Amino acid sequence: EPPINVRSLSEAIGIRANDLIKRMMNSMGLQVNINANLEEESAVMLAMEFGVELEVIHERTAEDDLLEAWEPDEAEVLNQVPRPPVITILGHVDHGKTSLLDRIRKSNVVSGESGGITQHIGAYQVEHEGKLLTFVDTPGHEAFTAMRARGANVTDIVVLVVAADDGVMPQTQEAIAHAKAADVPIVIALNKIDLPNVNLNKIYGELSQQDLAPEEYGGDTPVVKTSAVTGQGIPELLEMLGIVAELRCEILATPSRPATGTCLEASISEGRGVVATVLVQDGTLKVGDVMVCGDGFGRVRALFDDKGNSVTEAGPSMPVEVSGLDEVPTAGEKFGVVEDVSRAREIAETRRLRTRGVALGERQAVTLENLYSKM
Ligand code: GDP
Ligand code: MG
Repeated sequence: EPPINVRSLSEAIGIRANDLIKRMMNSMGLQVNINANLEEESAVMLAMEFGVELEVIHERTAEDDLLEAWEPDEAEVLNQVPRPPVITILGHVDHGKTSLLDRIRKSNVVSGESGGITQHIGAYQVEHEGKLLTFVDTPGHEAFTAMRARGANVTDIVVLVVAADDGVMPQTQEAIAHAKAADVPIVIALNKIDLPNVNLNKIYGELSQQDLAPEEYGGDTPVVKTSAVTGQGIPELLEMLGIVAELRCEILATPSRPATGTCLEASISEGRGVVATVLVQDGTLKVGDVMVCGDGFGRVRALFDDKGNSVTEAGPSMPVEVSGLDEVPTAGEKFGVVEDVSRAREIAETRRLRTRGVALGERQAVTLENLYSKM
């Protein structure tokens, strides 16, 4: 799809290119020629200056077709079954996010499993009363926000960690804003409850001010008192997460369909090539499948679960380490399975061209920002 430039805008809205150029010069101080590229929003604004309402219609691209094919069809939706909830832990620095994640992971190491966790892949699953819960260990809410900005909503429930000796702090508030923007339910872990001199009334008041009045305080926000040091409250927290997940009836997937999901992290590892931790969100990913993720593609060579065990497949909500991609994808990028390697290569090549095109285009285009900063 060609970019909009002054010439094509002139033809589309029936205003002489010279008049467009003059207008940009006079009212915005922008010196451009007839071939200058315009961002869509800028073109719309400029047309509006001449009293023309411009509607930009995009050609349907192969990318649109691909993303649509990755959505479940009607029959697949009918076959949806509950999947484990995906949980992200957010909160102010030093309130105990990492400690809680570690504690939860250890609380569920099956006895006899020698050495416990041998490998950590940034996400793991634990079992509580026969039900699985998936925890994503994103490094804080920056990653959470960055992923959401890329359209990747991986989280079903947010655990908001609030240290009982500190209360609601700036990053607590930010985390609340992010969870609300994502429309994700919040369960509060009132952590460090083992410390002396905890003032529950003060914290409950602060939470109420954030529109998160605890159940114990007449509101409806679940609050679980935890200690990552003593382990107090961990089973109750898992219990509560199970209950909240059951109430969220949209936590569903179709295990029988080809896998789609999101890359959580990726790197290049000596001897193993590109290694990506992905979260399967729908379908089942299998060794031998051909996948596309970001600008990369490849046949799945091996899959490892969160404990470093080699597995042959990974179903919905399972985090898994994949090797076989030819390029390192970025965290937050969607992946999907396609029919064969030649199709995957075709998609990846189109995407790589687009990535380079964007990088080149950005330098020249008149953006809404520079349009306005000159006004
Ligand atoms: P994060 O920045 O939110 O990941 O916080 P950390 O997990 O790194 O914890 C920050 C500090 O608080 C560490 O020194 C932990 O040992 C301590 N800490 C975490 N949880 C608890 C708790 O439940 N009780 C007490 N007393 N200390 C805790
Ligand atoms: Mg931490």
